[in-house]
Amino acid sequence: ELMVGEEERRKLLNVVQELKGNIRVFCRVRPLLKKEIVEGGSNEHMQMPGKAGKSLSITNVSTCYLSKLHSFIHSDGQKVVPFSFDRVFGDSSTQEEVFADVAQLVQSALDGYNVCIFAYGQTGAGKTYTMEGTNSEHELGIIPRSVKLIFKKCEELNKFGWVYKLSVQHVEIYREVLQDLLQTESGVKLDIRTTKASKKNSVWVNGLTEHEVTNYNMVQALLRQANQKRATAATNANDRSSRSHSVFMLKIVATNELTGEEHDSVLNLIDLAGSERVAESGSCGTRLKEAQKINGSLSELSNVISALANKDSHVPFRNSKLTFLLMDSLGGNSKTLMLVNVNPTKKAANETINTLRFATTVNKCNIGTAQKVVKFQ
Ligand code: ADP
Ligand code: MG
Repeated sequence: ELMVGEEERRKLLNVVQELKGNIRVFCRVRPLLKKEIVEGGSNEHMQMPGKAGKSLSITNVSTCYLSKLHSFIHSDGQKVVPFSFDRVFGDSSTQEEVFADVAQLVQSALDGYNVCIFAYGQTGAGKTYTMEGTNSEHELGIIPRSVKLIFKKCEELNKFGWVYKLSVQHVEIYREVLQDLLQTESGVKLDIRTTKASKKNSVWVNGLTEHEVTNYNMVQALLRQANQKRATAATNANDRSSRSHSVFMLKIVATNELTGEEHDSVLNLIDLAGSERVAESGSCGTRLKEAQKINGSLSELSNVISALANKDSHVPFRNSKLTFLLMDSLGGNSKTLMLVNVNPTKKAANETINTLRFATTVNKCNIGTAQKVVKFQ
């Protein structure tokens, strides 16, 4: 039996029956940049929808790569590698259009689910553009749009007795070390800990600051602060921003003043380190060490996803800081979206194929059906 206003609440949040498991893969191909066009860059090897569809394919790139793939077909003497995902956004898709397909997932965080949205892809493929966007209103990315949507929905749900407490944490993981992007003091060491009790959310970061927020502008100010801190750190280490993961966490504690119902959840919005391979980026020395670490943590992420999909008795969450931090948000009780960003240039074609093959593997993973944990007082 539905509780007070439950039906309306569900309508508001657009809660629908999940048809598939709780992992989705969306792919977004960015447009050619002016600079790339000037340099004669081409994206003719990519067949994709202009706005949105479900598939894309790559034609006629270096055959040595294609011969390693099982899924190519010959047509007119050309080799075509087809890929399909839950959604493919072509190079004329807008931030607004992408968000329209992400909004429902974001809202489910208000319904008590832990949600993870990852931007995956090689450096320059559009991860930060997709997650953060620019300062212009119509180019806002998923993070600001999500925050706006959450505040709007919180207000709407208020008339059903729901009261929300929202707070933000923002952390960067660089070479397996966590840094608080919202900490003004220096020298505070962070470490990931777990609470023994079998609570839904048992992972926490000791020393990480948490900032209660009551409106969008407060979050915007925090995001600016975090970006400044990242930029400062980046001047001390080459390419740090492309070799680190940025994890923005919006923590939601919901209480219903009419029914006593309570739940808490986290919306994790993650800009991953570049997925480029070490050998091809020509790294050496310390840069190689960094790149290996990052490749390491990205492959740990895929190990965790496939262990969850296989229902393995041991899921190697603790093998990397990223997966350990997200342990509560990657399990069967949460929803995950892998947003795969693609650089459209022919020069990047080999990396693009690597990226799309990785995405295909993730797409086959069915982690389970998300359930929310509802606590009654
Ligand atoms: P990444 O974070 O993956 O390294 P960026 O998000 O910084 O890549 O994108 C690289 C460049 O491409 C930036 O100049 C960015 O503004 C531009 N860009 C990325 N995606 C788009 C897009 N969908 N539309 C227009 N420009 C884009
Ligand atoms: Mg970036």
